[in-house]
Amino acid sequence: MDARSVVRTKRDGGELSEAEMRWFLDAYVRGEVADYQAAALVACIFTRGMKPAELATWTRAMLESGRRLAFDELPQKKADKHSTGGIGDKVSIPLAPAVAACGVAVPMISGRGLGHTGGTLDKLEAIPGFRVRLSEDEMHRVIGRTGVAFGAQTAELVPADRKLYQLRDATGLVESIPLIASSILSKKLAEGLDALVLDVKFGSGAFMPEIERGAELARVMIELAGSMGLRTSAFHTAMDRPLGAAVGHALEIVESLECLEGGGPADLRELVLLQGGEMLRLTGRAPTLDDGKRQIADALDSGRARKVFELVVGEQGGDPRIVSDPTLLPRASHVDPWKAETAGFLGFRDLREVGWAAAALGGGRAKIEDVIDPAVGLVWRRRAGERVEKGDVLCEVHHQGGRGLDACLAHLRSAISIGERTTVEPLVRATWSG
Ligand code: URA
Repeated sequence: MDARSVVRTKRDGGELSEAEMRWFLDAYVRGEVADYQAAALVACIFTRGMKPAELATWTRAMLESGRRLAFDELPQKKADKHSTGGIGDKVSIPLAPAVAACGVAVPMISGRGLGHTGGTLDKLEAIPGFRVRLSEDEMHRVIGRTGVAFGAQTAELVPADRKLYQLRDATGLVESIPLIASSILSKKLAEGLDALVLDVKFGSGAFMPEIERGAELARVMIELAGSMGLRTSAFHTAMDRPLGAAVGHALEIVESLECLEGGGPADLRELVLLQGGEMLRLTGRAPTLDDGKRQIADALDSGRARKVFELVVGEQGGDPRIVSDPTLLPRASHVDPWKAETAGFLGFRDLREVGWAAAALGGGRAKIEDVIDPAVGLVWRRRAGERVEKGDVLCEVHHQGGRGLDACLAHLRSAISIGERTTVEPLVRATWSG
């Protein structure tokens, strides 16, 4: 077989055969197909799309490009959740221990932040000593002892996605429904799960801001996962304003700890209950979603979820004392209020700018190898849709002696509007139950 003929098939709108897909992906992983040839194929998939059966075969070939995890030694069912990401989305951090406290194991493989979005792994690494680069053996040990493990994608797990995702990122070819669906699901299928919950974001801070495209992505992923035997539900949730109040790595750990103690912002708790409850329902631990939500609420309010988190932090090399004393987390040298310059109703006209504002302080990366400052970020004191008066504090800016502060404030000014009352989208727009 030859890379050019595979590219030509897709270029001309044809369907790739299973043999072509497997050959191409395996040869790419071995380095026998060049990056420029893979980029050409990805560009053709981007423009031509994929039929459902073709997408399922492509996803299976991606999955089988590497090793799969199997947690057969665990008596519990296994479930995970995946969010398409955004600003202040720290749901996974309280959710995974809460679900584990209810008897479902969570082998979570998460990602890093890139561009305007934050990543769960970077947030967890704000905890002094916390290691996310777990070997397979370590993943088994941590999950066996605690019911949760927070790991990173290894070189062996779906290597085709690892290479293709970097290539797509470098060539502006990320926003394609079949490419996103196969990328996310190949990794989730490799975790050996019984159930999956997807949180597909809409709004200006999301990867797929438009409601219709986000909904289509959710439907494609549910159908694809179902065709591969993975029971999956999806929620379409708002990312047109920050989730919770904190945006920044250590600051989001503090907010996650509040949620793990039964408090924290209402929107964060609502998504943790909803998605955790659905993980319990899909795995048969709860007869209904309402019962699942009640079990998760009890795990948070009783301190059981917090205890699991403390154990995981210790098992993954982190300092477990941060759970009872968050002042041990990295802290910025300065905290300044950012005040409203006029009166009116607060809106977020471009939420990505909030992500860029935190990144400008040192809390983001433009390239995957950039080093981030875990201490900096923002804590919102007012919510979207609230009336504010001139001089009211909109958010606190946590910075290191003014580094990046002017750029941060410029981004914040572009992020918000203060004016007429606007409608606030519901936190959860749609649900697709698997
Ligand atoms: N996250 C992924 O893992 N893959 C994509 O393609 C997009 C977001």
